[in-house]
Amino acid sequence: MSARLLDGEAFASQIHVQTTQRVQALRQQGITPGLVFIRVGEDPASRAYVTRKEKRAGEVGISSRTLVLPENTSLPSLLREINALNADPKVHGILIQSPLPKGLSHDIVYARVSPSKDVDGFHPVNFGKLLLDDPSGFLPCTPAGILAILRLGKIPTSGKHAVVVGRGQIVGRPLAVLLARKSPGADCTVTLAHSSTTNLPAITRQADILIGALGRPHFLKPEHVRPGATVIDVGVNRIADPSNSRGYRLVGDVDFDSVRAVAGAITPNPGGVGPMTIALLLSNTLRAAESTVS
Ligand code: NAP
Repeated sequence: MSARLLDGEAFASQIHVQTTQRVQALRQQGITPGLVFIRVGEDPASRAYVTRKEKRAGEVGISSRTLVLPENTSLPSLLREINALNADPKVHGILIQSPLPKGLSHDIVYARVSPSKDVDGFHPVNFGKLLLDDPSGFLPCTPAGILAILRLGKIPTSGKHAVVVGRGQIVGRPLAVLLARKSPGADCTVTLAHSSTTNLPAITRQADILIGALGRPHFLKPEHVRPGATVIDVGVNRIADPSNSRGYRLVGDVDFDSVRAVAGAITPNPGGVGPMTIALLLSNTLRAAESTVS
């Protein structure tokens, strides 16, 4: 058996088509959605991520730019930059690319972004709205992208057992809440596993939907997977690869080649969750711009 591929690139293209149409309609009303990325320091992976997001933003008609700040930027000066963007009516979305250099607290920095421009969905107000099922908030892009994969991939969710491995703030924890919501495309029974979970394979083998969001290369193997289950691979891990010109390559949390033989459906990695994260970022930015129209 070979699992059906859940092609994140193809699903993301479907979302981009809708985003493009709505961006065009907004531009006809004289509003161009504006997105600003803040990158602090010269981390090569961050540079590559931001470049990719900027390219996609341009393709759907969103105006974007990157504010590049030096590695030694102080917290007060970063907060001043965010204040200025919060006050700029041409800026509808602000994304602070992680990781931030040591010494800059993610929590303090994310909380400074206006909740109405927090298109990453990391602000405490938007996290609270997620917990309260309040649709006026912005959902974090990666968990929302995973729900969109399940929906567009026609994976049944209601009453199914979803096991999320990893309780991180950006992916696992909000994803577990979203999957458990009493709403179409969710309505799962959810188990949230982590590094203290005992006998993890016995738990993951109960999953109809298994999500790897732990950041450990090729961690999930066939023995973790119930035959026929849907497997979503969130991880982005760097492993040494002398045959690659960069000296490394990126791999997921799932041992794709062996798990594909057991699973019923599986995301490739790359080409699964990553493109959907960008698609949801751009649709959040569009919504932020649309909400300024009275
Ligand atoms: P994180 O905050 O570091 O959380 C990792 C979680 O995994 C923690 O809850 C940790 O448990 C758990 N964990 C670690 N080792 C484990 C093990 N051996 N068994 C079970 N659980 C284990 O990471 P994150 O920010 O959520 O990101 C997770 C992964 O997703 C990373 O690879 C990241 O690069 C990737 N990611 C991808 C995208 C995308 O768009 N594709 C977006 C965001 C993140 P404890 O809580 O007990 O420490």
